[in-house]
Amino acid sequence: MKNFDLNILVRETVKDLKPYSSARDEYVSDGSDMIFLDANENPFENGVNRYPDPQQRSLKAILAKQKGVLEENTLLGNGSDEVLDLIFRAFCEPGQDNIITMPPTYGMYKVLSGINAIENREVLLTPDYELDVPSILKNTGTRTKLMFICSPNNPTGNAFSKQHIKELLDAFKGLIVIDEAYIDFAEHESWVTSLAQYPNLLVTQTLSKAYGMAGIRLGICYASKEVIAILNKIKPPYNVNQLTQDRALDRVVAPKLVAAEVDRILTERDTLVKTLNRLSFVETVNPSDANFVLVKVDNADKRYNELLKAQIVVRNRSNQPLCENTLRFTVGTSEENEKLITILKEME
Ligand SMILES: *Cc1c(COP(=O)(O)O)cnc(C)c1O
Repeated sequence: MKNFDLNILVRETVKDLKPYSSARDEYVSDGSDMIFLDANENPFENGVNRYPDPQQRSLKAILAKQKGVLEENTLLGNGSDEVLDLIFRAFCEPGQDNIITMPPTYGMYKVLSGINAIENREVLLTPDYELDVPSILKNTGTRTKLMFICSPNNPTGNAFSKQHIKELLDAFKGLIVIDEAYIDFAEHESWVTSLAQYPNLLVTQTLSKAYGMAGIRLGICYASKEVIAILNKIKPPYNVNQLTQDRALDRVVAPKLVAAEVDRILTERDTLVKTLNRLSFVETVNPSDANFVLVKVDNADKRYNELLKAQIVVRNRSNQPLCENTLRFTVGTSEENEKLITILKEME
Protein backbone atom coordinates (compact mmCIF):
# COMPACT_ATOMS: atom_id res chain seq x y z
CA MET A 1 0.00 0.00 0.00
CA LYS A 2 1.69 3.18 -1.26
CA ASN A 3 0.62 6.79 -0.78
CA PHE A 4 -1.51 6.01 2.26
CA ASP A 5 -2.39 9.08 4.32
CA LEU A 6 -4.05 8.34 7.66
CA ASN A 7 -4.29 12.04 8.47
CA ILE A 8 -6.90 12.78 5.80
CA LEU A 9 -9.11 9.97 7.10
CA VAL A 10 -9.43 11.25 10.68
CA ARG A 11 -12.38 13.49 11.55
CA GLU A 12 -11.36 17.10 12.18
CA THR A 13 -13.05 17.11 15.59
CA VAL A 14 -11.06 14.05 16.62
CA LYS A 15 -7.79 15.51 15.34
CA ASP A 16 -8.27 18.57 17.55
CA LEU A 17 -9.56 16.68 20.56
CA LYS A 18 -7.75 16.69 23.86
CA PRO A 19 -8.76 13.45 25.60
CA TYR A 20 -10.04 13.33 29.18
CA SER A 21 -7.17 12.62 31.52
CA SER A 22 -8.19 10.36 34.38
CA ALA A 23 -6.48 9.99 37.75
CA ARG A 24 -5.07 6.65 36.66
CA ASP A 25 -3.65 8.24 33.49
CA GLU A 26 -1.90 11.00 35.41
CA TYR A 27 -0.27 8.81 38.02
CA VAL A 28 0.53 5.31 36.81
CA SER A 29 1.16 2.94 39.69
CA ASP A 30 4.48 1.09 39.51
CA GLY A 31 3.37 -1.40 42.15
CA SER A 32 5.10 0.37 45.07
CA ASP A 33 3.22 0.95 48.27
CA MET A 34 1.50 4.31 47.68
CA ILE A 35 -1.50 5.86 49.39
CA PHE A 36 -4.01 6.70 46.66
CA LEU A 37 -6.00 9.82 47.47
CA ASP A 38 -6.40 11.04 43.89
CA ALA A 39 -9.56 9.47 42.46
CA ASN A 40 -12.25 9.97 45.13
CA GLU A 41 -12.59 6.23 45.60
CA ASN A 42 -13.83 4.55 48.76
CA PRO A 43 -10.60 3.42 50.52
CA PHE A 44 -11.97 0.20 52.04
CA GLU A 45 -10.64 -2.72 50.01
CA ASN A 46 -13.17 -5.14 48.52
CA GLY A 47 -11.40 -6.08 45.28
CA VAL A 48 -13.20 -3.56 43.09
CA ASN A 49 -13.17 -0.31 45.08
CA ARG A 50 -10.42 1.14 42.83
CA TYR A 51 -10.83 2.29 39.23
CA PRO A 52 -9.48 -0.24 36.73
CA ASP A 53 -6.34 0.41 34.66
CA PRO A 54 -7.59 2.57 31.74
CA GLN A 55 -4.93 1.05 29.47
CA GLN A 56 -5.44 -2.56 30.68
CA ARG A 57 -1.67 -3.05 30.62
CA SER A 58 -1.42 -6.58 32.09
CA LEU A 59 -4.01 -8.00 29.71
CA LYS A 60 -2.64 -6.14 26.68
CA ALA A 61 0.91 -7.27 27.38
CA ILE A 62 -0.11 -10.94 27.17
CA LEU A 63 -2.38 -10.55 24.15
CA ALA A 64 0.23 -8.51 22.25
CA LYS A 65 2.94 -11.07 22.99
CA GLN A 66 0.75 -13.96 21.86
CA LYS A 67 -0.09 -12.20 18.58
CA GLY A 68 3.45 -11.01 17.89
CA VAL A 69 2.60 -7.29 18.04
CA LEU A 70 3.29 -4.53 20.55
CA GLU A 71 0.96 -3.10 23.20
CA GLU A 72 0.91 0.13 21.17
CA ASN A 73 -0.74 -1.89 18.37
CA THR A 74 -3.53 -3.05 20.68
CA LEU A 75 -6.79 -1.50 21.89
CA LEU A 76 -9.32 -3.24 24.13
CA GLY A 77 -13.02 -2.49 24.33
CA ASN A 78 -16.30 -3.47 25.92
CA GLY A 79 -16.87 -6.19 23.31
CA SER A 80 -15.99 -5.79 19.62
CA ASP A 81 -19.18 -3.82 19.32
CA GLU A 82 -17.58 -0.94 21.26
CA VAL A 83 -14.38 -1.27 19.24
CA LEU A 84 -16.33 -1.05 15.98
CA ASP A 85 -18.25 1.97 17.22
CA LEU A 86 -14.99 3.74 18.16
CA ILE A 87 -13.70 3.13 14.63
CA PHE A 88 -16.82 4.76 13.16
CA ARG A 89 -16.61 7.74 15.48
CA ALA A 90 -12.92 8.35 14.88
CA PHE A 91 -13.00 8.30 11.09
CA CYS A 92 -16.53 8.88 9.74
CA GLU A 93 -18.09 12.35 9.53
CA PRO A 94 -21.88 12.01 10.06
CA GLY A 95 -23.94 12.91 7.02
CA GLN A 96 -20.89 13.09 4.76
CA ASP A 97 -18.78 9.94 4.76
CA ASN A 98 -19.66 6.43 3.68
CA ILE A 99 -18.56 2.86 4.34
CA ILE A 100 -18.72 -0.40 2.40
CA THR A 101 -20.15 -3.64 3.74
CA MET A 102 -20.62 -6.94 1.91
CA PRO A 103 -23.91 -8.65 2.81
CA PRO A 104 -24.80 -11.22 3.85
CA THR A 105 -22.61 -10.35 6.84
CA TYR A 106 -22.61 -9.37 10.50
CA GLY A 107 -25.51 -7.01 11.22
CA MET A 108 -23.71 -4.60 13.55
CA TYR A 109 -21.85 -2.73 10.78
CA LYS A 110 -25.15 -1.60 9.32
CA VAL A 111 -26.62 -0.73 12.73
CA LEU A 112 -23.54 1.31 13.62
CA SER A 113 -23.60 3.13 10.29
CA GLY A 114 -27.23 4.03 11.03
CA ILE A 115 -26.47 5.23 14.57
CA ASN A 116 -23.57 7.33 13.34
CA ALA A 117 -25.46 8.71 10.30
CA ILE A 118 -23.00 7.24 7.81
CA GLU A 119 -24.09 5.98 4.39
CA ASN A 120 -23.68 2.20 4.14
CA ARG A 121 -22.86 1.11 0.58
CA GLU A 122 -23.78 -2.54 0.36
CA VAL A 123 -21.98 -4.68 -2.22
CA LEU A 124 -23.35 -8.21 -2.20
CA LEU A 125 -21.06 -11.21 -2.03
CA THR A 126 -21.00 -13.39 -5.14
CA PRO A 127 -23.46 -16.36 -5.18
CA ASP A 128 -20.69 -18.61 -3.81
CA TYR A 129 -20.19 -16.16 -0.92
CA GLU A 130 -16.90 -14.64 -2.07
CA LEU A 131 -15.87 -10.98 -2.21
CA ASP A 132 -16.80 -9.24 -5.47
CA VAL A 133 -13.59 -7.21 -5.67
CA PRO A 134 -14.26 -5.23 -8.89
CA SER A 135 -17.72 -4.22 -7.72
CA ILE A 136 -16.45 -3.27 -4.24
CA LEU A 137 -13.74 -1.03 -5.70
CA LYS A 138 -16.19 0.54 -8.16
CA ASN A 139 -18.37 1.59 -5.23
CA THR A 140 -15.60 3.41 -3.33
CA GLY A 141 -15.30 7.19 -3.56
CA THR A 142 -13.24 9.95 -2.00
CA ARG A 143 -15.48 9.90 1.09
CA THR A 144 -15.36 6.14 1.58
CA LYS A 145 -13.57 5.82 4.89
CA LEU A 146 -14.06 2.21 5.94
CA MET A 147 -14.63 -1.26 4.56
CA PHE A 148 -15.75 -4.13 6.82
CA ILE A 149 -14.62 -7.62 5.87
CA CYS A 150 -15.88 -10.31 8.21
CA SER A 151 -13.64 -13.35 7.73
CA PRO A 152 -14.61 -16.08 8.58
CA ASN A 153 -17.91 -14.49 7.65
CA ASN A 154 -21.04 -14.53 9.79
CA PRO A 155 -23.56 -15.97 8.76
CA THR A 156 -22.03 -17.85 5.81
CA GLY A 157 -19.18 -19.41 7.84
CA ASN A 158 -16.49 -19.34 5.15
CA ALA A 159 -13.28 -17.32 5.25
CA PHE A 160 -12.62 -15.16 2.18
CA SER A 161 -9.85 -15.73 -0.34
CA LYS A 162 -6.56 -14.27 0.83
CA GLN A 163 -5.86 -13.03 -2.69
CA HIS A 164 -9.11 -11.02 -2.81
CA ILE A 165 -8.43 -9.40 0.55
CA LYS A 166 -4.89 -8.53 -0.59
CA GLU A 167 -6.27 -6.86 -3.72
CA LEU A 168 -8.56 -4.71 -1.58
CA LEU A 169 -5.78 -3.83 0.89
CA ASP A 170 -3.55 -2.78 -2.01
CA ALA A 171 -6.14 -0.73 -3.85
CA PHE A 172 -8.29 0.95 -1.18
CA LYS A 173 -7.09 4.26 0.29
CA GLY A 174 -9.39 4.10 3.29
CA LEU A 175 -9.22 1.70 6.24
CA ILE A 176 -10.08 -1.99 6.01
CA VAL A 177 -11.43 -3.62 9.14
CA ILE A 178 -11.11 -7.40 9.09
CA ASP A 179 -13.45 -8.81 11.72
CA GLU A 180 -11.87 -12.03 12.96
CA ALA A 181 -14.41 -12.99 15.63
CA TYR A 182 -14.13 -16.63 14.45
CA ILE A 183 -10.43 -16.78 13.56
CA ASP A 184 -9.60 -19.36 16.26
CA PHE A 185 -11.79 -21.91 14.45
CA ALA A 186 -10.13 -21.32 11.08
CA GLU A 187 -7.17 -23.14 9.59
CA HIS A 188 -5.51 -20.14 7.97
CA GLU A 189 -3.56 -17.61 9.98
CA SER A 190 -4.81 -14.28 11.26
CA TRP A 191 -4.29 -11.05 9.30
CA VAL A 192 -2.62 -9.67 12.44
CA THR A 193 0.65 -10.96 10.99
CA SER A 194 0.22 -8.59 8.01
CA LEU A 195 -0.21 -5.40 10.05
CA ALA A 196 3.33 -4.16 9.42
CA GLN A 197 2.75 -4.46 5.68
CA TYR A 198 -0.58 -2.60 5.51
CA PRO A 199 -0.97 0.73 7.35
CA ASN A 200 -4.66 0.72 6.32
CA LEU A 201 -5.43 -2.59 8.06
CA LEU A 202 -7.33 -3.02 11.34
CA VAL A 203 -8.04 -6.48 12.73
CA THR A 204 -10.72 -7.01 15.36
CA GLN A 205 -11.03 -10.09 17.55
CA THR A 206 -13.09 -10.99 20.61
CA LEU A 207 -13.17 -13.27 23.63
CA SER A 208 -16.87 -13.92 22.96
CA LYS A 209 -16.59 -16.99 20.73
CA ALA A 210 -13.64 -19.44 20.90
CA TYR A 211 -12.54 -18.11 24.31
CA GLY A 212 -15.97 -18.80 25.76
CA MET A 213 -16.35 -15.42 27.45
CA ALA A 214 -19.28 -13.67 25.75
CA GLY A 215 -20.53 -12.66 29.19
CA ILE A 216 -17.55 -10.51 30.18
CA ARG A 217 -17.54 -8.36 27.00
CA LEU A 218 -14.00 -8.06 25.75
CA GLY A 219 -13.18 -7.00 22.20
CA ILE A 220 -9.76 -6.30 20.72
CA CYS A 221 -8.45 -4.15 17.88
CA TYR A 222 -4.97 -4.64 16.42
CA ALA A 223 -3.66 -1.92 14.10
CA SER A 224 -0.77 0.48 13.47
CA LYS A 225 0.27 2.51 16.49
CA GLU A 226 -1.01 5.64 14.74
CA VAL A 227 -4.53 4.18 14.32
CA ILE A 228 -4.53 2.87 17.91
CA ALA A 229 -3.45 6.29 19.22
CA ILE A 230 -6.45 7.90 17.49
CA LEU A 231 -8.89 5.34 18.91
CA ASN A 232 -7.35 5.78 22.36
CA LYS A 233 -8.11 9.51 22.20
CA ILE A 234 -11.86 8.90 22.02
CA LYS A 235 -12.38 5.74 24.08
CA PRO A 236 -14.14 6.15 27.43
CA PRO A 237 -11.40 6.18 30.10
CA TYR A 238 -12.51 3.09 31.99
CA ASN A 239 -14.16 1.14 29.18
CA VAL A 240 -13.00 -2.30 30.33
CA ASN A 241 -14.06 -2.97 33.90
CA GLN A 242 -11.93 -4.68 36.57
CA LEU A 243 -13.96 -7.91 36.67
CA THR A 244 -13.58 -8.29 32.90
CA GLN A 245 -9.84 -7.59 33.03
CA ASP A 246 -9.37 -10.17 35.81
CA ARG A 247 -11.42 -12.94 34.18
CA ALA A 248 -9.91 -12.32 30.74
CA LEU A 249 -6.40 -12.50 32.18
CA ASP A 250 -7.13 -15.89 33.80
CA ARG A 251 -8.31 -17.21 30.46
CA VAL A 252 -5.71 -15.83 28.05
CA VAL A 253 -2.83 -17.19 30.13
CA ALA A 254 -4.21 -20.69 29.45
CA PRO A 255 -4.34 -20.88 25.63
CA LYS A 256 -4.09 -24.69 25.72
CA LEU A 257 -7.46 -24.91 27.50
CA VAL A 258 -9.03 -22.75 24.81
CA ALA A 259 -7.39 -24.77 22.03
CA ALA A 260 -8.70 -28.01 23.55
CA GLU A 261 -12.26 -26.67 23.54
CA VAL A 262 -11.87 -25.43 19.97
CA ASP A 263 -10.70 -28.93 18.96
CA ARG A 264 -13.78 -30.50 20.51
CA ILE A 265 -16.06 -27.99 18.79
CA LEU A 266 -14.41 -28.68 15.42
CA THR A 267 -14.83 -32.44 15.88
CA GLU A 268 -18.52 -31.91 16.65
CA ARG A 269 -18.83 -29.62 13.63
CA ASP A 270 -17.49 -32.35 11.35
CA THR A 271 -20.00 -34.86 12.73
CA LEU A 272 -22.84 -32.39 12.31
CA VAL A 273 -21.84 -31.50 8.73
CA LYS A 274 -21.68 -35.19 7.75
CA THR A 275 -25.16 -35.79 9.14
CA LEU A 276 -26.63 -32.68 7.57
CA ASN A 277 -25.28 -33.66 4.15
CA ARG A 278 -27.20 -36.94 4.30
CA LEU A 279 -30.60 -35.42 5.14
CA SER A 280 -33.18 -35.30 2.36
CA PHE A 281 -34.43 -31.82 3.27
CA VAL A 282 -30.92 -30.31 3.28
CA GLU A 283 -29.86 -28.81 -0.04
CA THR A 284 -26.39 -27.45 0.78
CA VAL A 285 -24.11 -27.05 3.78
CA ASN A 286 -21.80 -24.11 3.23
CA PRO A 287 -18.12 -24.83 4.00
CA SER A 288 -17.34 -23.51 7.48
CA ASP A 289 -14.19 -22.02 9.00
CA ALA A 290 -16.17 -21.14 12.14
CA ASN A 291 -18.13 -22.72 15.02
CA PHE A 292 -21.38 -22.68 13.07
CA VAL A 293 -22.70 -23.85 9.73
CA LEU A 294 -25.10 -22.21 7.32
CA VAL A 295 -27.47 -24.76 5.86
CA LYS A 296 -29.86 -24.37 2.95
CA VAL A 297 -33.00 -26.42 3.52
CA ASP A 298 -36.25 -27.07 1.63
CA ASN A 299 -38.33 -24.77 3.84
CA ALA A 300 -36.51 -22.80 6.55
CA ASP A 301 -39.61 -21.58 8.43
CA LYS A 302 -41.02 -25.09 8.66
CA ARG A 303 -37.72 -26.64 9.79
CA TYR A 304 -37.08 -23.82 12.26
CA ASN A 305 -40.44 -24.44 13.92
CA GLU A 306 -39.96 -28.19 14.02
CA LEU A 307 -36.64 -27.70 15.82
CA LEU A 308 -38.22 -25.21 18.20
CA LYS A 309 -40.89 -27.78 19.13
CA ALA A 310 -38.03 -30.12 20.04
CA GLN A 311 -36.58 -27.35 22.24
CA ILE A 312 -33.73 -26.52 19.88
CA VAL A 313 -33.20 -22.89 18.91
CA VAL A 314 -31.27 -22.16 15.73
CA ARG A 315 -31.08 -18.95 13.70
CA ASN A 316 -33.25 -18.48 10.64
CA ARG A 317 -31.18 -16.34 8.26
CA SER A 318 -33.65 -16.47 5.37
CA ASN A 319 -34.32 -12.73 5.37
CA GLN A 320 -30.65 -12.01 4.55
CA PRO A 321 -29.71 -11.47 0.89
CA LEU A 322 -28.46 -14.66 -0.85
CA CYS A 323 -29.63 -16.66 2.17
CA GLU A 324 -33.11 -17.80 1.16
CA ASN A 325 -34.21 -20.85 3.18
CA THR A 326 -31.09 -20.98 5.30
CA LEU A 327 -30.65 -21.87 8.96
CA ARG A 328 -27.51 -21.19 10.96
CA PHE A 329 -26.54 -23.90 13.44
CA THR A 330 -24.06 -23.09 16.21
CA VAL A 331 -22.03 -26.14 17.21
CA GLY A 332 -22.82 -27.19 20.80
CA THR A 333 -21.48 -29.87 23.15
CA SER A 334 -21.43 -33.52 22.03
CA GLU A 335 -24.60 -34.15 24.09
CA GLU A 336 -26.37 -31.21 22.46
CA ASN A 337 -25.14 -32.28 19.06
CA GLU A 338 -26.39 -35.86 19.54
CA LYS A 339 -29.82 -34.58 20.51
CA LEU A 340 -29.85 -32.27 17.49
CA ILE A 341 -28.85 -35.08 15.14
CA THR A 342 -31.56 -37.38 16.53
CA ILE A 343 -34.21 -34.70 16.01
CA LEU A 344 -32.97 -33.83 12.52
CA LYS A 345 -33.25 -37.48 11.49
CA GLU A 346 -36.79 -37.63 12.86
CA MET A 347 -37.67 -34.59 10.75
CA GLU A 348 -36.96 -36.43 7.46
C1 LIG B 1 -20.11 -12.54 17.64
C2 LIG B 1 -19.43 -11.58 16.74
C3 LIG B 1 -18.67 -10.53 17.25
C4 LIG B 1 -18.49 -10.40 18.72
O1 LIG B 1 -18.91 -9.24 19.23
P1 LIG B 1 -18.63 -8.93 20.78
O2 LIG B 1 -19.20 -7.58 20.92
O3 LIG B 1 -17.13 -8.97 20.94
O4 LIG B 1 -19.30 -10.00 21.58
C5 LIG B 1 -18.03 -9.69 16.38
N1 LIG B 1 -18.12 -9.85 15.05
C6 LIG B 1 -18.83 -10.86 14.53
C7 LIG B 1 -18.87 -11.06 13.07
C8 LIG B 1 -19.51 -11.75 15.36
O5 LIG B 1 -20.24 -12.74 14.82
